[in-house]
Amino acid sequence: MAKKNAETSQQTQIMDKLVSLCKRRGFIFQSSEIYGGINACWDYGPLGVELKNNIKQAWWQAMVYERDDIEGLDASILMHPKVWEASGHVENFTDPLVDCKSCKLRFRADQIPEENLKLKKCPECGGELTEPRKFNLMFKTFMGPVEDEAHIVYLRPETAQGIYVNFENVYVSMRRKIPFGIAQLEKLSETR
Ligand SMILES: [Zn+2]
Repeated sequence: MAKKNAETSQQTQIMDKLVSLCKRRGFIFQSSEIYGGINACWDYGPLGVELKNNIKQAWWQAMVYERDDIEGLDASILMHPKVWEASGHVENFTDPLVDCKSCKLRFRADQIPEENLKLKKCPECGGELTEPRKFNLMFKTFMGPVEDEAHIVYLRPETAQGIYVNFENVYVSMRRKIPFGIAQLEKLSETR
């Protein structure tokens, strides 16, 4: 256990160095940094956006322009909720999570030490943990000003569904014959 903790702390130190280097050199900044930052969101700096665009272009060149059996696509990142019901994401895109009743932090049950899970003890503050509960991991928001069930939409948790639901559109409009492929890039600025 002590070894694992030492490894984790070494990884955290390396990550901290990397983040600070990326910031100093203008590649990546933490989102909303002047207000304390927002977890898991990052902004590409002047050099970061150039690097990102170069990688996207190289990928598009190899995947779309240099092949005659692939079409390109750029689908909306918000899709009809029925797409995610049909794909099984609403039901199955879940992780068991536990909450700390004292410090209110939330952990993935499979990512905290087994001992803590068994004793229901928070790895951060030692407070009591809830039973593991299933949480859907899709990013949920509401389309329009009304926040009710009928207006729920999800930020796409994967790129492929945009390709699947547009298959017929591409097939017909490009006069394709099967087999052919559809290529799409994820929005790299989405939260990670
Ligand atoms: Zn706690």
